[in-house]
Amino acid sequence: MEKSVILKKGKEESLQRRHPWIFSGAIQRINGKPEEGDLVTVYTNDNKFIARGHIQVGSIAVRVLTFNDEPIDHNFWKQRIATAYEMRRSIGIASREDNDTYRLVHGEGDNLPGLVIDIYNDTAVIQAHSVGMHVNRAEIAAALSETLGERINSIYYKSDTTLPYKADLNQENGYLMGKSANDTATEYGLKFHIDWLRGQKTGFFIDQRENRVLLEKYSKGRKLLNMFCYTGGFSIYALRGGAELVHSVDSSAKAIDLTNANVALNFPDDKRHTAYAEDAFDYLDKMGDNYDLIILDPPAFAKHRDSLRNALIGYRRLNAKAIEKIKPGGIIFTFSCSQAVSKENFRTAVFTAAAMAKRNVRILHQLTQPADHPVNIYHPEGEYLKGLVIYVE
Ligand code: SAH
Repeated sequence: MEKSVILKKGKEESLQRRHPWIFSGAIQRINGKPEEGDLVTVYTNDNKFIARGHIQVGSIAVRVLTFNDEPIDHNFWKQRIATAYEMRRSIGIASREDNDTYRLVHGEGDNLPGLVIDIYNDTAVIQAHSVGMHVNRAEIAAALSETLGERINSIYYKSDTTLPYKADLNQENGYLMGKSANDTATEYGLKFHIDWLRGQKTGFFIDQRENRVLLEKYSKGRKLLNMFCYTGGFSIYALRGGAELVHSVDSSAKAIDLTNANVALNFPDDKRHTAYAEDAFDYLDKMGDNYDLIILDPPAFAKHRDSLRNALIGYRRLNAKAIEKIKPGGIIFTFSCSQAVSKENFRTAVFTAAAMAKRNVRILHQLTQPADHPVNIYHPEGEYLKGLVIYVE
């Protein structure tokens, strides 16, 4: 019997608008006893084909792979990955001499819900966020290797922290192809060690690339604090931009080692840079008022809708401290990467922080994620990164 899902009457509406998720409440019946991660065909209540996708446990019951009645086979994966690559090539991200670091597949944004593929030089890192993508990882790796050909020689699979833990997949990270000999990648001419074996996400925060470019433009002659530095991305752009002094802070000692290693890779023995392993709030409490450029790029304070209120309090406190202490005429790059926090929520938190600090603040730029993290227009939930660049009198 075909593994299929029959929707309740009228519940096909969001699918007709090409939204790629089916919630469990929309389902009338499940046929053929699919297991989590299996492919299922989705029918309307009067038995018309509407979609095909991966079934999963939880409130999102199906992630749609296609709205066409087509098989999900080698050809399907190849076409989707080729389309994603062609987009990055045509807009210039995957075809620059000075850049081999980019996101090739961004989940729903590339019509592949639950799948992330990042490229670091000649290594691709695949990350599954759904059991279905985990089940299909070998097919995905084969299609990826065929599409990118000699541009990559290794594929690493890293999903230990992104798969639902209850799925009990006993899954291990590891190479699906080759074994990278080199952990160094280039982003707009700067070199970074990428630790896909142990690092956060796939090893690097590619999503801040264009924001780092903007930061570089503002760095000249400034004294900079890069709070939540992780691998030091913003710090290294600031050094290239001619900053007078750069302090990188992260609570993780490992992040500080990574930052120091990346600074050494680009600017060996540069006395302008120092990194500190310290808690953000402690550091902001103790620091003086000498900085005139501060970056605040904290981890997602709200992982779910339930924690939204506390998250907003966190953003407010953090920003208030920075706004209070920055030198007159200083600039703050402040971010939120929580999907549950809207642009308006975040802006209100920064507005309240400014009012608490009693300083005049103007918004210079409103930032978001870069073009290799596209937002599927039918899935606005995909817009997660928000940033403001503010000028503090
Ligand atoms: N700006 C970075 C990404 C930041 S990720 C980049 O461009 O690559 C968030 C970082 O915040 C992580 O490295 C994490 O170790 C750090 N972190 C989490 N809680 C912290 C805290 N309370 N104080 C300081 N750093 C913290």
